Amino acid sequence: SQYVYRFGGGVSDGGAGDKNLLGGKGANLAEMASIGLPVPPGFTISTEMCDRYYREGERIPDDVRDEIAGGIAHIEAVVGKRFGDPADPLLVSVRSGARVSMPGMMDTVLNLGLNDETVAGLAATSGDERFAWDSYRRFIQMYADVVMGVDHGLFEEALEIAKEDKGVHLDTDLDAEDWRRLVGRYKEIVAEELGRDFPTDPHDQLWGAIGAVFGSWQSERAKVYRRLNDIPGDWGTAVNVQAMVFGNLGETSATGVAFTRDPSTGERAYYGEYLINAQGEDVVAGIRTPQYLTRAAREKAGAKAASMEEALPEVYGQLAQVFETLERHYRDMQDIEFTVERGKLWMLQTRSGKRTAKAALKVAVDMANEGLITREEAVLRVDPAALDQLLHPTLDPAAPREVIAKGLHASPGAACGKAVFDADTAEKWAEGGEKVILVRVETSPEDIHGMHAAQGILTARGGMTSHAAVVARGMGRPCVSGAGGLSIDYRAGLMRIGAREVKQGDVITLDGSTGEVMLGEVPTVQPELVGDFGALMAWADAMRRLSIRANAETPADCRTAREFGAEGIGLCRTEHMFFDAERIANVRQMILAPDEAGRRAALDKLLPAQRDDFAEIFRIMAGLPVTIRLLDPPLHEFLPHQEEEFAEVARASGLAVETLRARAQDLAESNPMLGHRGCRLGITYPEIYEMQTRAIFEAAVAVAGEGGEAPIPEVMVPLVATKAELAIIKALIERTAEAVFAETGKRIDYLVGTMIELPRAALRAGEIADEAEFFSFGTNDLTQTTLGVSRDDAGRFLGIYVDKGIFARDPFVSIDVEGVGELIRLAAERGRATRPAIKLGICGEHGGDPASIAFCESVGLDYVSASPYRVPIARLAAAQAAL
Ligand code: ADP
Ligand code: MG
Ligand code: MG
Repeated sequence: SQYVYRFGGGVSDGGAGDKNLLGGKGANLAEMASIGLPVPPGFTISTEMCDRYYREGERIPDDVRDEIAGGIAHIEAVVGKRFGDPADPLLVSVRSGARVSMPGMMDTVLNLGLNDETVAGLAATSGDERFAWDSYRRFIQMYADVVMGVDHGLFEEALEIAKEDKGVHLDTDLDAEDWRRLVGRYKEIVAEELGRDFPTDPHDQLWGAIGAVFGSWQSERAKVYRRLNDIPGDWGTAVNVQAMVFGNLGETSATGVAFTRDPSTGERAYYGEYLINAQGEDVVAGIRTPQYLTRAAREKAGAKAASMEEALPEVYGQLAQVFETLERHYRDMQDIEFTVERGKLWMLQTRSGKRTAKAALKVAVDMANEGLITREEAVLRVDPAALDQLLHPTLDPAAPREVIAKGLHASPGAACGKAVFDADTAEKWAEGGEKVILVRVETSPEDIHGMHAAQGILTARGGMTSHAAVVARGMGRPCVSGAGGLSIDYRAGLMRIGAREVKQGDVITLDGSTGEVMLGEVPTVQPELVGDFGALMAWADAMRRLSIRANAETPADCRTAREFGAEGIGLCRTEHMFFDAERIANVRQMILAPDEAGRRAALDKLLPAQRDDFAEIFRIMAGLPVTIRLLDPPLHEFLPHQEEEFAEVARASGLAVETLRARAQDLAESNPMLGHRGCRLGITYPEIYEMQTRAIFEAAVAVAGEGGEAPIPEVMVPLVATKAELAIIKALIERTAEAVFAETGKRIDYLVGTMIELPRAALRAGEIADEAEFFSFGTNDLTQTTLGVSRDDAGRFLGIYVDKGIFARDPFVSIDVEGVGELIRLAAERGRATRPAIKLGICGEHGGDPASIAFCESVGLDYVSASPYRVPIARLAAAQAAL
């Protein structure tokens, strides 16, 4: 089969559709070449070779070597230079490129093909001796670092010494002779470190670099990144070999990166950075401070250095045209790398640009309004999980803030936590429950785990496209980058800003939307849910079939849920209402009472409070369904712990403390999750459910009489395993409801149903539906009972299970479709067979997980219920599932 795909010079063996085979970079290089954009010629070695590389002893087989030679010949023919030709050498870059861009992969090697002979040819043909030797030393440094594993610090040190010896500060102060001498020194460093010479044969260099790209697929860094991002290990990477173009050939040469729209706000304005007389990674590496692409951005930032629009107006004009072509062609915002060689523009990369949630939303809505994409596409383009960033609080603009530093607004949102200065500490402290802000001079792929653990990221160096900025936006972490006034002392574990010192553990706040860094904690405010957010949500609502409800029991949560668009309550957990400081005494008295009479006396005191709770919820949820779950947890969860608490119950009940203690001991269970809980409480102590039911109906009747829309209570019985259990409790509920209707002379509509959270209930759903008017799948317990895994104890092994691929994802986060999902599917079918109009929903944690929501859509449930903050996520995910 074919492993090498050419591009450039009028040829494109692949295209944008070949990302799996060619990786993102390779597929888009071929695509750009095919639509006539200026792309230096090259070829891509496919991801299939990556697999073969590992299968065949980590080497490149001979047949593929031949194909690669053909690829080199293609480049030679287009460029008119020969690889290894001492008079006029072709130089290439070797670039990795997986399906998705992936930190942890081998860094690019530029200027490959240089040696002591070809460097002379490069000097002669370019007419620039200094450029040739500068390119050569860059090549040795990059190649030795990424291919041969020599610590790059050694080269930097040698460069510093060279500058010191000459008494200069800048790289640009070194001349051809200085670079030539450094090349000699660099080669010595390689020999000293490795005991072998730097490879001089361009072909050896090429095989080394290609092998290193494939080899980096299994590097620890790459593996960590794949694990954090759910990227399968068998995808493999492609390798791109491409003719070099030079941005370091003087004042009419440059290199840069750009976005076709602002990746932070989504605004329709080109955004980018560039450097004159520089090569490749200089822009992102933070060696020199990059300049703005557009004049408007430069003026806004108050920067002096000329923008590309001003310094190179003609090429800038061409670039702007390329932006338009690419956006129209890809119908999405693009993230672009380009180089200008002596006034000629070359495109080196394009991909759909990573963006903040805010930008994703704005770009999607704008593009739909511009007619570039449809509304359906707009809805599909926004990652529901990313909405989370928009729903969470931002800093209160009115709150006082002590700004101690300012950097770039690299990734929006507010973050507050203790400053830490290395990734390992960030991870350790976060595991211990601390909120941390990771502070670094700049970040690299080795810091990913710490960035993940941190609330936010602060760097002293680096632009909007630096590693920290790009990764933070992808992760949804607020980030301030390039805070210039900051000096970080890793050894002392502190940073200095002017005369001020911030030590490890001191609390700081970041505003990733303004770039401000503040001392201490700054209060936050709720986001506004209008504008682009409102527009996209309205489109999504029109496209979805599933209803979205919320899990909520406090009035505050119910209000939040409604603001976020909940269409009812799918789970109101009544036990949460029992922990209130005033009520807990009565709850304890009820539990510890030795007989029914004692329990009833205590329940009578609880009734008015429960009634008020429900009335408040019904008012907020006027006209919408409210599913109320009767008491579920084991009673001992409410028991007193301290001496004083026992004494209080003794006083209130008139019972002796010893009696109460003995009763408390009676209630202890060895496996409470499978013990005396759920409807088993209602069967054994019917008076508890009777009181709750009475409170529900008295409240409902009262609120219905207030003139607003009548509430629709759905009384839900937990942990049912058999039809008989539900029949007994349903009779009790109906009796109580009728009693209330008779007493008040008013009647309201209501439903009685059950949770399906035990495998037996799912299996016997057909007969349970004789009694149940609705099923609500309690997927937390259903997952525990189906897998035989206790959620509270799963932490010890679940991570390893996911690592080993036993579970694709944590089954408590995303429904185990094959197991738990099978039970849900079956219960839904059997329930519907008995009662076609039965209402079906889910109320576990999974109700806010997009993949689980897609599953619920596929089984045809009526609604999903999620925590209030996840309601918008669920609305969008439900629309995507329906499309
Ligand atoms: P990454 O995925 O880390 O961005 P790239 O392969 O895109 O790595 O390359 C890193 C840098 O080198 C980029 O700035 C890119 O534009 C530049 N570069 C890559 N290949 C060439 C080339 N053939 N000529 C000039 N610059 C190149
Ligand atoms: Mg790189
Ligand atoms: Mg790149």
